[in-house]
Amino acid sequence: MIRVALLGASGSIGAAALDLARSFRDRIRIVSLAARSNDRVLLAAAGELGVHRIALVEPAAAARARAAWSGTVLEGEQALGTLAEDPDADVVVNAVVGSAGLGATAAALACGKRVALANKESIVVAGELLTAMARRSGGTLLPVDSEHSALFQCLAGRDRSDVRRVTLTASGGPFLRRDPRSVHDATPEEVLRHPTWSMGERISVDSATLINKGFELIEARWLFGLEPGQLDVVIHPQSIVHGLVEFVDGSVVAQLSIPDMRLPLLFALSYPERWESTLPRLALAEVGALAFEAPDPARCPGLGLARRALAAGGTAPAVLNAADEVAVRLFLDRKIRFGDLMPLVDEVLAAHRTVAEPSLGAIREADAWARARLAEAALPVIRG
Ligand code: NAD
Ligand code: MG
Repeated sequence: MIRVALLGASGSIGAAALDLARSFRDRIRIVSLAARSNDRVLLAAAGELGVHRIALVEPAAAARARAAWSGTVLEGEQALGTLAEDPDADVVVNAVVGSAGLGATAAALACGKRVALANKESIVVAGELLTAMARRSGGTLLPVDSEHSALFQCLAGRDRSDVRRVTLTASGGPFLRRDPRSVHDATPEEVLRHPTWSMGERISVDSATLINKGFELIEARWLFGLEPGQLDVVIHPQSIVHGLVEFVDGSVVAQLSIPDMRLPLLFALSYPERWESTLPRLALAEVGALAFEAPDPARCPGLGLARRALAAGGTAPAVLNAADEVAVRLFLDRKIRFGDLMPLVDEVLAAHRTVAEPSLGAIREADAWARARLAEAALPVIRG
């Protein structure tokens, strides 16, 4: 039986984790749940799965939960770290969105735990620091991101010096076949309609600009200790092949499955075992054709930005992420246009003076600087 702290339980990945906990009651026990403000979802899940400890970042939500429930309710941002460190939990599923998830990942790794990491922002903003921390403490980072789960499975048991390059697939998002000029005024509704995956708002917007795939390049660099030149992206609209590893002899190993986040999440929990599941199975004959194409730089400005941040290193990825978080919020609030997103993030990244080998404090400073700078850069394009 593994005991799991589920952070970000009210979101899309959180729902997938709760679903697995229901299907594997004899193997997965959820010991705590956390979310930003959705007390209703947490209390329903706590009642159903017999959880006695929850955390809500927003004090008003925590107060509502306390009034309605007799279990323990923690509140505030530091409560996520408290749950992550709890000796009652063996595994922390970090399904928080944004750099707000970083503290909990660091706290869990510092006490040598396994982190099933959906919160890619943790590793994007602090990859060097977290991987060093894991080496020291014996903690492990297991990817939940489907592409990285694929690469992890393809790389298992192989010598890193045998790897020539890895390829992450990208569906291309909802605007793959649209003229890049015609998407400048795309609405949040159009952007949130992803062709193959059903996800939270931020990652859906990031999939439309392709900066999500850029973040995933940075994520792969740190998770697998690869050089930027070994990381590649290919557009694959069906989202059946998730990642490919090419070895030095030219042989390529890939991982395939239907697009369902429960699968990589299950693997991050069961590893090194595989647990028999009743998840929908892949029927290739029904899928028919699988297509692949090179990403068009004009349609994928986010990929180029991430390559730049990767080359600059240090605090640059943290700035890229924080600027994008703020820009996405402004877009979802209809304050800026879809076409403003990447130019604004570009402007902030270009203005940043990178700090090499940053501490957690320096990363947080860069994050705060980028948020303020993005808000300022957006002023001229904010819609009345
Ligand atoms: P979501 O928006 O559906 O859910 C986000 C969760 O984080 C919610 O539970 C919310 O309460 C919590 N949260 C938000 N702000 C918080 C804060 N400041 N402090 C604490 N908790 C906070 O997002 P999602 O789509 O489930 O994505 C979660 C993470 O998983 C992201 O990092 C995303 O990139 C990654 N991911 C998601 C998918 C997917 O299919 N949804 C796929 C790959 C990776
Ligand atoms: Mg992914």
